[in-house]
Amino acid sequence: MLRSPILAAARSPRTRSLVEHLPPTRAIVDRFVAGDVLADAIRVTHELVESGRKVTLDHLGEDTADRSQADATVDAYEALLGALGETGLARSAEVSVKLSAVGQFLPGDGERIALDNARRICVAAARVGTTVTLDMEDHTTTDSTLGILRELRADFPWVGAVLQAYLRRTEQDCRDLAHEGSRVRLCKGAYQEPESVAFQDKGEVDRSYVRCLRILMGGAGYPMVASHDPRLIAIARHLADLAGRAPGSFEFQMLYGIRPEEQARIVERGDLMRIYLPYGAEWYGYFMRRLAERPANLTFFLRAMATKG
Ligand SMILES: Cc1cc2nc3c(=O)[nH]c(=O)nc-3n(C[C@H](O)[C@H](O)[C@H](O)COP(=O)(O)OP(=O)(O)OC[C@H]3O[C@@H](n4cnc5c(N)ncnc54)[C@H](O)[C@@H]3O)c2cc1C
Repeated sequence: MLRSPILAAARSPRTRSLVEHLPPTRAIVDRFVAGDVLADAIRVTHELVESGRKVTLDHLGEDTADRSQADATVDAYEALLGALGETGLARSAEVSVKLSAVGQFLPGDGERIALDNARRICVAAARVGTTVTLDMEDHTTTDSTLGILRELRADFPWVGAVLQAYLRRTEQDCRDLAHEGSRVRLCKGAYQEPESVAFQDKGEVDRSYVRCLRILMGGAGYPMVASHDPRLIAIARHLADLAGRAPGSFEFQMLYGIRPEEQARIVERGDLMRIYLPYGAEWYGYFMRRLAERPANLTFFLRAMATKG
């Protein structure tokens, strides 16, 4: 019930300014974000890798409105990938990229700019021996993002896709992408979407997730099961067994700061567990989506505001 107004607030500049300047915000943001700078990202990646987890790093930012900001984002990814190479972390850490942060919505030739920029990031990843996954944003970007994915994969077949189970189209997209060598992250979906394109009921989204899992686990690609939902994680494990998949032929993924005990349990039983780790100063949109996913997070946030006065 609270999801829609929070996601609407995520797009409001007034709310953004208010939330960013509230005193208790930082402590709560730190639960979900490594920190503002590259050194924070590297430090937390080290900690996660030492505990047996893999990492995918996200340099925060989205909906970039000018070319220089898009270029700065690419520079940040190049610096990040260089640092992962130098510290020996590239074996265990890859990067996740939002195409809207590298120019997808720029007027004129946004898609071409995003493709060229994503290509630069792929070159930097290849240089240090790691991979890139293209995050999926709202449904108006799905075709464009999958088109750019196809172009990138011609040169970098290891580029990962993200599909969102709440979209009605996703079962078919899973079929199209469940081929040899294809890395596909399946998540429920984090944006506010209309009924015409997305299931609105939680049960329907979960059932769609299971149908998509069946396709991905039974296919020849590399499924990345991105969920904190205990029921879906158990079903994914069962479907992997049914498909005769060995540990290492698929992975689980969770967001930094969410269900860390479950993350540790998955590592302990010998399955691959990758943590999505965001860093950077542009945390607002990401943070608001995390609040929207769980009303308890919002209550915690409001209580912290009230006590700080
Ligand atoms: C690695 C990864 C990458 C993702 N990439 C994308 C992407 O590219 N595009 C996209 O649209 N979405 C992405 N998402 C977000 C995803 O779509 C969901 O919004 C999010 O994962 C919550 O769904 P869930 O499967 O965990 O199930 P839910 O039913 O939402 O949650 C299941 C349980 O997990 C815990 N939980 C879930 N969310 C939170 C939270 N915010 N705070 C505290 N506890 C929580 C609670 O215990 C909850 O009961 C990604 C998620 C992950 C894990």
